Amino acid sequence: MNMTQPFRFCLFFLWLVSFAIAQNALAQTSSEPTLPYTPSLDVTAMDKSVDPCVDLYHYSCGGWQKKNPIPPDQTSWAVYGKLYQDNLNFLRGMLEDAAKNPGQGDAVTQKVGDFYSACMDESAVEKRGVGAIQPQLDAIAQLNSINGLAPLAARLVLPFGGNVIFESGSTQDPDNSEQEITALDQGGLGLPDRDYYVKDDAKSKETRERYLLHVQKVFELLGDDAATAKKSSETIMRMETGLAKASWTRVERRDPYKLKNKMNLADLSKLAPKFDWPTYYREMHYPAFEILNVGTPQFVKQINAELSGESLDNWKTYLRFHIADSYSPFLSSAFVSENFEFYRKYLRGAKEQQPRWKRCVQYADYNLGEALGQVYVRRVFSPELKQSTLDMVQRIERAMGDRIQALDWMSPETKKQALVKLAGIRNKIGYPDKWRDYSSLMIARDDFAGDIERAGNFELHRQINKIGRPVDHGEWDISPPTVDAYYNPQMNDINFPAGVLQPPLYDAKMDDAPNYGNTGGTIGHELTHGFDDEGSQFDAKGNLRNWWTKEDREKFDARTKCVDDQYSQYIAVDDVHVNGKLTLGENVADLGGEILAYIAWKDATKDENLQPMDGLTPEQRFFVGFAQWDCANERPEDERVRAMTDPHSPPEYRINGVVVNMPEYAQAFSCKAGQAMVKPADKVCKVW
Ligand SMILES: [Zn+2]
Repeated sequence: MNMTQPFRFCLFFLWLVSFAIAQNALAQTSSEPTLPYTPSLDVTAMDKSVDPCVDLYHYSCGGWQKKNPIPPDQTSWAVYGKLYQDNLNFLRGMLEDAAKNPGQGDAVTQKVGDFYSACMDESAVEKRGVGAIQPQLDAIAQLNSINGLAPLAARLVLPFGGNVIFESGSTQDPDNSEQEITALDQGGLGLPDRDYYVKDDAKSKETRERYLLHVQKVFELLGDDAATAKKSSETIMRMETGLAKASWTRVERRDPYKLKNKMNLADLSKLAPKFDWPTYYREMHYPAFEILNVGTPQFVKQINAELSGESLDNWKTYLRFHIADSYSPFLSSAFVSENFEFYRKYLRGAKEQQPRWKRCVQYADYNLGEALGQVYVRRVFSPELKQSTLDMVQRIERAMGDRIQALDWMSPETKKQALVKLAGIRNKIGYPDKWRDYSSLMIARDDFAGDIERAGNFELHRQINKIGRPVDHGEWDISPPTVDAYYNPQMNDINFPAGVLQPPLYDAKMDDAPNYGNTGGTIGHELTHGFDDEGSQFDAKGNLRNWWTKEDREKFDARTKCVDDQYSQYIAVDDVHVNGKLTLGENVADLGGEILAYIAWKDATKDENLQPMDGLTPEQRFFVGFAQWDCANERPEDERVRAMTDPHSPPEYRINGVVVNMPEYAQAFSCKAGQAMVKPADKVCKVW
């Protein structure tokens, strides 16, 4: 996944903790694993003792919550997460086949088999210990001047295409979306967000104390004595705190104009003259370029300040930690355990490490996802499914067009532009038309950490090689088995991988009501992202260009403020409120998406004589189907991290927060004024 793209696309459901899926080719022999089936409306998942007019979420999901405790190796558990685990099992069978038969399949099959085999060979990984990253550690040890930092930073590639100190890669030009340009952005931290370094509440302080111990432990694992390691941990905290303070917050990063700072190399060198940028870009094999976009200029200035203020030894300490910390999951068990203890157990509340096979399948998906994806889609995704999904997408797009035309607050001028944007959206369903070519990536059966480094390099250079070339509109940012969907404002496209188009999310065996409530709502959600507080600032071509009249934009802002105010009142965990500004785009998309799905469903079934089923009317089935996409159980630790980092609201608000704004809901369940799921008419939020 491109770490550097400053204008992030909007996922429907954020995979926080780790990695998506992976997989590979090989339609070979043996086991044909099948995915377990759960219907898209599951009456046994409901808790009918709850009044739907008080709490739709627990009415629809109470049974699911009781039946589905969080597994000890997970940080939360939800319908999406569970389906993802089923996919991992499925992919595991494919990977094991490929690993068992080296030299028998095609080149792609062999590659994923070798990758999985290297990952699963725990004793070889154990035997190599820290030796697996010795070349990087040696290169750091040999650094003998601050001037040498730039070429060294170019040499040190992190897993999944990450960079040390800052993020570096490519992005679509915000002013000309058909052109790829060089991108540079903030990065370089060990904690999940810059706020951890600057907030003063007791929990943030505790987290910093715990992080210091983690950093110290990593240095001890590298062979340092306790006193030296402790001193080094303080150096890391000081340097990262400087970088954190110079980083935009997540809310600031929702403003695409803040992130647009185009300059040339000479301008960049003025921001940070002590870093040798021309050498860095040459060593990274960037093509020659005229302009680059710097997401966070003050961050680059801060790098310069720390190049002046910190000693050469401190910089070597910084690099040593970041190499060891980021490669820890791929090293010997002592590193793996420490990484788990801090990042997954302390920060997110998991009780146990995931079994090795599960981690290896995820790493394979992350690094070779479009190789694994080819077999996955052959087995689970039929042309009929693609066609029926596309029909639903088109119906929901028509509903959006009708809705825009009917808006009572928008002028004809802006409506015209909005319709142009809607018509410009590309629909991508299932999997890419053209698969990624991994032939230049070398995978060794006996060098797991090396495989991770080479795969990181492959991804980074895939990004760099886009610069100066036409944009590839067929590209996907997530792999086919991923249980998620996204809208990308610069591509102006919606993307639904095969993984998200299966039961219980989309269920060809079910009636339309729950399918529209669930997957229809997701499609509407992604479409609405093109018109949320952030996406609405990009035009049909994906350029950052205002297409609104001033008056319409003011009316739009007042309407999104209603949503911000509503969600800001919700509690995420303990005394932590939902951040209404961080989650605004997702909340607007959740609301708009469900309204569109409802209209499209009514239209799709207007000639049918719909009957109650399972004791629920068709309208009730629509809303219960909707709620059941997000049945979940959560750990408080994870809820806390997500409140700070996740642009999505907690599950129950993604459901209840939507229906309180839909009079159709109150009508479906005959709810009365004054009940919790019924807002007074003058308080209802309506954007799209
Ligand atoms: Zn979204």
